[in-house]
Amino acid sequence: MNPLLANLVSANCFEYLIFNQDYQILEASSGVHEFVDNSESINLGDDIRLPFPELVGIEEILVEILQGEQKNFNLKGVKRCLDEDSPLYMDLYIIKNVQVDSSHHTTSEFIMIVVNSTERMVMEQSMMQSINNANFLLRNLTASKQYIDQIVTSMADGLLVTTLSGKIKKINLTTTKILEYSEEELLGQNIEEIIRDIHQLTLDNVAGEGNFSQTIKEIEISCTTKSGKNIPLAISCSVVQTEIEHFQGYVYILRDMTERKQAELAKQEFLAMISHEIRTPIASVTGMASLLLNTKLTAEQRNFTNTIYLSGEALHKIINDILDFSKSEAGKLELEAEPFELRRCINEAIMLVAPKAQEKGLSLNFLDNSAIPTIIIGDIVRLRQILVNLLANAIKFTDHGSVEVSFTGSKIANYNHHPEGIKPHTYELQFAVKDTGIGIDKNHFDRLFKVFSQVNSSITRQYGGTGLGLAICKQLCELMGGRIWAESEPGLGSTFHFTIVVDVVSETREHTIHKTSESSGEIAVSHISHHVQIDTTLAQKHPLKILLVEDNLINQKMIQIMLQRMGYNAEIANNGLEALAALRRQLYDVVFMDLQMPKMDGLTAVKQICEEWTPDKRPWIIALTANALPEERDRCLQLGMNDYLVKPIRIAELMETIKRCHPIVCDRS
Ligand code: ADP
Repeated sequence: MNPLLANLVSANCFEYLIFNQDYQILEASSGVHEFVDNSESINLGDDIRLPFPELVGIEEILVEILQGEQKNFNLKGVKRCLDEDSPLYMDLYIIKNVQVDSSHHTTSEFIMIVVNSTERMVMEQSMMQSINNANFLLRNLTASKQYIDQIVTSMADGLLVTTLSGKIKKINLTTTKILEYSEEELLGQNIEEIIRDIHQLTLDNVAGEGNFSQTIKEIEISCTTKSGKNIPLAISCSVVQTEIEHFQGYVYILRDMTERKQAELAKQEFLAMISHEIRTPIASVTGMASLLLNTKLTAEQRNFTNTIYLSGEALHKIINDILDFSKSEAGKLELEAEPFELRRCINEAIMLVAPKAQEKGLSLNFLDNSAIPTIIIGDIVRLRQILVNLLANAIKFTDHGSVEVSFTGSKIANYNHHPEGIKPHTYELQFAVKDTGIGIDKNHFDRLFKVFSQVNSSITRQYGGTGLGLAICKQLCELMGGRIWAESEPGLGSTFHFTIVVDVVSETREHTIHKTSESSGEIAVSHISHHVQIDTTLAQKHPLKILLVEDNLINQKMIQIMLQRMGYNAEIANNGLEALAALRRQLYDVVFMDLQMPKMDGLTAVKQICEEWTPDKRPWIIALTANALPEERDRCLQLGMNDYLVKPIRIAELMETIKRCHPIVCDRS
């Protein structure tokens, strides 16, 4: 063996083979056996291409090496063992070797060095694998970023992302359209510079107590766009919290509410218009029928007229229910917060339904609870509405037995301060309306409080109704901080429970509230009738010169007849212009002023009256309108009107309004 090669082999660097120009093996290191193909053995004199078939086809290159045209030949990473668990790779290097013998005769041969490259190759392969994996991840990441970008871009709402300090980092196309700034103008700005009222969103709440997934409730603010336009903007915010600081911040969703507001306004106007158009003729029907009921009639005529009156009232209730429901849906249902006597409210509700209970031979009871305070702050009209709805249903669906109202209450908090100086306590009052009627099947419970749902159509045919009553009750209870639910045993009866949260005024304020004589105990229902007794001597006791300003002929006639029944002779003006002319001609104590009229409407007429006459010289003005919204009443009172009557005009309310009038105390001559 070549001594140098033998030394190198012994240092474990490589193995080698020497072969001649005819490819015959001349010499081989002992460890080279490991690298042969298919367990071929190495025998001196054998063709090297048998144990190393990789050399087949490179004969021309070997000739070039012999002739000195090429220095060497390398073959790297040759895989020898196909077993994946213990792979074997080698690198082959072939160079020319010139042997000089003792007679200075030279022969050329080849040395093939075989180096085990398994470790390097495995590393290279695992690196390749990692690179492939990384490329695959990168492609996926790029695609998912594109996907998210496309979603964000196509969002109909504006999306705005800021850092924790409020610097705008990302926006979508809708945001630029809403705010009218370009992307360049927005990125990098502080959000407070762009949306000034953003501080109204209390971000502390969002990030509060480590609960970062919380989204803040949407609020509506006014926002000035780049061009100076003020738009209503609904805005909500949530916190983005990741482990990497760069990806922390706030995500805002912006929605331009301009169109929605316009649609809401149009709906409100439509509702107000419809309410006027429908209520006016219904008012005429019920008004005329109630007047007719106050005249001499045969039993049959009275019966017919009564039906007309009751149908008109039923229709009126349906219209009111629909209006209430849509108002509440639009968030427009506002509750009063005035002190009132709780038992009076319950008694009034009972009185309203008592005639029907009496007609059906049902006993109607109020189980009073003396432990509960008397005066509460709330909306008497709406509480009565819930009670009347539940009582009317109980009576409607009960043929024998009784209907019973009861209530309990428990204190839930103490207030030390109250804006009006009163010291109220907060109570949860729980009411129950119990009947012994047909009951309700358990399967229908979840549908009960949904709008337009009646438990089944045969019941609807038999009992009528719109299926709105309980849905409205539910909304009203929730507005009052409570809830409503039912219990029932089919065939035995139902109990409807509801709660409301109210402030209770201490007993010391009781003297300021009108008290009814029947504030507790079971009330007698026999004497209650829904037809009003007209005070025919009112004009003598309370003389007034009245001008009725109303364009609708039927309304004119009806109100005029109602007033005549009380002894008043009202004069008529058909619109605001005629009213002004009449007022300039002579003095009136009271003007009933319709609001919607041709030529000159009521509001314009009142403005002119207030300009022309000082408060001590001008008449007491009562608005007549079909619009029962509280804003309408406030608008009338602010304009200088003294009182307000909602159509349909009921004779009892008309009498009360007249009793409240103060005639002018000035010289009539
Ligand atoms: P409606 O105007 O049709 O009475 P409600 O919303 O008040 O509408 O009631 C919905 C339905 O619930 C009724 O049609 C009836 O089937 C059922 N219901 C309500 N109250 C009672 C009750 N006290 N007893 C039996 N069924 C009732």
